[in-house]
Amino acid sequence: MSELINNSAAELSGKLAAGEVTAVELTQAHLDRIAAVDGSINAFLHVNTDEALAVAAEVDAARSKGEELHPLAGVPIAVKDLIVTKGQPTTAGSRMLDGWLSPYDATVVRKIRAAKMPMLGKTNLDEFAMGSSTEHSAFGPTRNPWNLDRIPGGSGGGSAAAVAAFEAPLALGTDTGGSIRQPGAMTGTVGVKPTYGGVSRYGAIAMASSLDQIGPVTRTVLDSALLHELIGGHDPADSTSLTDPVGPLVEAAKMGNVSGLRIGVIKELNGEGYQDGVREKFQESLELLRGAGAEIVEVSCPNFDHALGAYYLIMPSEASSNLAKYDGVRFGNRVLPEGQTTIERVMGATREAGFGDEVKRRIILGTYALSAGYYDAYYGSAQKVRTLIQRDFDAAFSKVDVLISPTAPTTAFKLGEKLEDPLAMYLNDVATIPANLAGVPGLSLPGGLAEEDGLPVGIQLLAPVREDARLYRVGAVLETMLEEKWGGPLLAQAPELAEGRLQTEGAK
Ligand code: GLN
Repeated sequence: MSELINNSAAELSGKLAAGEVTAVELTQAHLDRIAAVDGSINAFLHVNTDEALAVAAEVDAARSKGEELHPLAGVPIAVKDLIVTKGQPTTAGSRMLDGWLSPYDATVVRKIRAAKMPMLGKTNLDEFAMGSSTEHSAFGPTRNPWNLDRIPGGSGGGSAAAVAAFEAPLALGTDTGGSIRQPGAMTGTVGVKPTYGGVSRYGAIAMASSLDQIGPVTRTVLDSALLHELIGGHDPADSTSLTDPVGPLVEAAKMGNVSGLRIGVIKELNGEGYQDGVREKFQESLELLRGAGAEIVEVSCPNFDHALGAYYLIMPSEASSNLAKYDGVRFGNRVLPEGQTTIERVMGATREAGFGDEVKRRIILGTYALSAGYYDAYYGSAQKVRTLIQRDFDAAFSKVDVLISPTAPTTAFKLGEKLEDPLAMYLNDVATIPANLAGVPGLSLPGGLAEEDGLPVGIQLLAPVREDARLYRVGAVLETMLEEKWGGPLLAQAPELAEGRLQTEGAK
């Protein structure tokens, strides 16, 4: 494959600045890679060739005139198709919005444009970000580049697969219950959910507003820090946006020192229900951190056992309200019913045809949980559990600097394996959800390949609210130690992947 696409964003930034490569060459190399492999992976719903090359040409022209540029100028990026982009389609993975063009850019997209990063296109996702496998997309599933018969995680499987398959060095995702971190774990990439409010949600199509966050999807911890610093910061257009300055995240990623740090292993997110290979790789990371001078202690967060139950009431409740606007009158592709066209019948036909099964399931669940007679029993109780989970985090962080767990209980499962069993699918989010309920930041990085299936395992780090820098500090050290052990990045351990010879189950 082209040597170029093998580089991290930080390396590419250096090569662009040194004039070793032009932004046009770099963008073209990624577009060529997309053309070569995306037919098998389906990470992209839309490829933005002309605009990406035009932005790259602008960067090259500006550089030749000696203009000052952002370090990521000319470094291409892919954007999850839940984030609105002017001039490019935004579907949210749903037939409801197929063909829709946003009249405005999300704040994060505005920042990407201001930094002159060529946008390669929009990536696939579970419809309205509901799912853990990207199989609920109305436009076909994304496949895991490590093994095409496996899921890439979800909902942001497209962004993670694009980065893992070297189709893009960077991508944006959204994380409501794990949709950045769990796909990161499934594909051997790095994914970060920032502190709630740390990155503007303006222009992210709302799923569950009290949980949603936009964040980076990359191949290295440093690259996530670079992208996070660019997209983070206060935004008056998002009323939940924090006024705190972001960072210094890049500095933290470069600092590399865990000596004297206290790292808490969450008792409830380890052990029973976790695949053997996941537990083994998790233990290996703990040993490395201990060897580097961190103090590893066990902490208990007893209410985490109820996080999944609380999430699957709060999330559908908020989603049922957020998705009410897709009725074919205010938003969404209008479908006319046969016979009489009253407004109720138009709305019914539109929602029947526009939404897939998982979205309907959650709207029904959420509407039920919010209905007058049941509100206290379901939604009210779930909110109380949410408070208890926040208190578990507070208690844990009074004893340790960061928390650690596997990102997901298993490696990537087979396509179709959990599609008919929504509860089994939901269980894959058990370790990522507590962070969303409490608003704390989380990072997933690759911890190795599971012995039994040779697929990537994710290690999750969690820090207190506003302490995102700690994730980068610890993540970068762990990444360096792991790569020393493997003799290079995890993605380089699958040469067939880097060369674009994608494998299926049978071929292994
Ligand atoms: N997998 C989780 C769900 O289905 C998380 C989704 C997300 O973070 N967008 O709700």
